Amino acid sequence: MTSATRAESAAAARTAVVGGGIAGLAAAWELARAGVPVRLYEASDRLGGAIAPHVLAGVEVDAGAEAFATRSTAVPQLIEELGLSDQVVEPNPDGAWLQLPDLASPLPATGILGIPADPTAAEVVAILGQEGARRAAEDLSRPMQDWTSVAAGAGAGGGAAGVGSPSVGAVVRDRMGQAVLDRLVTPIVSGVHSAHADDLDMSNAAPGLFEAMLEQGSLARAVAQVKAAAPAGSAVNSLEGGLKTLVAALERRLRELGVEIRAGVAVTDLSVLDAEHVILAVDGPQLMQLAGPYADLPQRGTELGRGVALVSMVLKAPELDARPRGTGMLVAPSVEGVGAKAMTHISAKWDWASRALTQALGEGHHLVRLSYGRVDDDLAAGALGFASSDEQLLQAAAADVGTLFGLPVWRGQILDADVVRWQKALPQASAGHQQHVAQVRDALAQSWGAQNRSGPKLYAVGSWFAGTGLARVIPDARAVARLIMNDS
Ligand SMILES: Cc1cc2nc3c(=O)[nH]c(=O)nc-3n(C[C@H](O)[C@H](O)[C@H](O)COP(=O)(O)OP(=O)(O)OC[C@H]3O[C@@H](n4cnc5c(N)ncnc54)[C@H](O)[C@@H]3O)c2cc1C
Repeated sequence: MTSATRAESAAAARTAVVGGGIAGLAAAWELARAGVPVRLYEASDRLGGAIAPHVLAGVEVDAGAEAFATRSTAVPQLIEELGLSDQVVEPNPDGAWLQLPDLASPLPATGILGIPADPTAAEVVAILGQEGARRAAEDLSRPMQDWTSVAAGAGAGGGAAGVGSPSVGAVVRDRMGQAVLDRLVTPIVSGVHSAHADDLDMSNAAPGLFEAMLEQGSLARAVAQVKAAAPAGSAVNSLEGGLKTLVAALERRLRELGVEIRAGVAVTDLSVLDAEHVILAVDGPQLMQLAGPYADLPQRGTELGRGVALVSMVLKAPELDARPRGTGMLVAPSVEGVGAKAMTHISAKWDWASRALTQALGEGHHLVRLSYGRVDDDLAAGALGFASSDEQLLQAAAADVGTLFGLPVWRGQILDADVVRWQKALPQASAGHQQHVAQVRDALAQSWGAQNRSGPKLYAVGSWFAGTGLARVIPDARAVARLIMNDS
């Protein structure tokens, strides 16, 4: 990795993008297809950021993000522009399972974040028990409390004034009770969002749900309403060969359009880029550092979360051909003896992955991915996560995979394994975060008009600003890129 130098930047394009994750790539795409010359800098030697490939037993699969949400048209639109629509794939409709201390059960398909649309449905009652289901059903008739002063991060029941909507934890506890929170919502929130339900802003985690609840006077009816408004088909899709297909296509088309891609260049000083506009598509702390000299940025803890460690393994296990746990499992924190917070049975979820494994290794082979590192894990007590050693993680994963499938898995069945750690791609959607990033964007915009301004006009994109996930990051980055076109 080298640093960008003045000499390198002599023939600068007028717009530079710093960061070659999906946010930087989407911003560069928006500009380049409109004819704006762009130079893109990426610190690592490959593009894609948290969309990354790795090879297990000779098969290339996703090591980070593996799917995109279909609730908006943003990602499908980009895919269409890149000519990849015929490569869109749906996951196996079996869906995921829940592992609770006393039960392994398919996750009810009708929920959002695990919140049931019908607390009286048999599959929901089976998970909550009669008493838990009775309390959950109170939501259908109890008057709605006044939520105006309750914001995320206020803890159980809320109470602190702040911005945004209340936390997922506060709303679910109030409307449906603790059993829904513990047995349905927490496994999903901690396994998928790497967050604690009391710290997760409801509007951020499930756009539109809070407003729908106020309108409907019921959380369950709100879930049903939001689900009914979602596009038909599965909630997430991917591409044949995984999301690396998207990055490869973007890179190819950007190069065709003349975008100069500088991989292996970590930008440390924006002045050497010699650009009029600079889009910062990096993580939050990195952005604060790079933009610091140019704007009066509001300071606040720029937490990145604790990070996660993913253990992927290829198993020879024909007994998994029957997909005994659907597409994978979300594990409640209260389950003892299992360190993983989630397990994805990748080859059960995606037919393309199953076909690739069969082609490479023959029948009866499976790919699973286990994730470690809950936001409130007690690291001092030995909880596994980002900081654990490969050996610790591999050992735990070998044991967990057997426990979660309910089948013993011997070491000899594991043909290949890989540990991948992610720290910077899952920013905490916690209390005050949205307000803070809005203030950072305001400060950047204000610096454009500052007297004696000598630096470039700075713009911020990426998941730290837009929220986690391609469906948020891509349209946001493209909208920011259009600001530059309007300014030109
Ligand atoms: C394990 C995991 C699984 C996920 N699964 C999904 C999923 O299935 N679906 C989904 O929608 N989302 C998923 N996400 C979230 C999604 O991947 C992210 O929200 C999104 O990819 C973030 O893109 P980004 O461009 O903002 O950031 P990043 O992907 O982090 O890219 C930032 C880039 O900037 C580069 N960079 C940083 N500093 C500099 C510098 N100084 N100079 C040059 N370059 C620099 C970095 O090297 C990096 O490539 C997942 C995330 C993780 C970690």
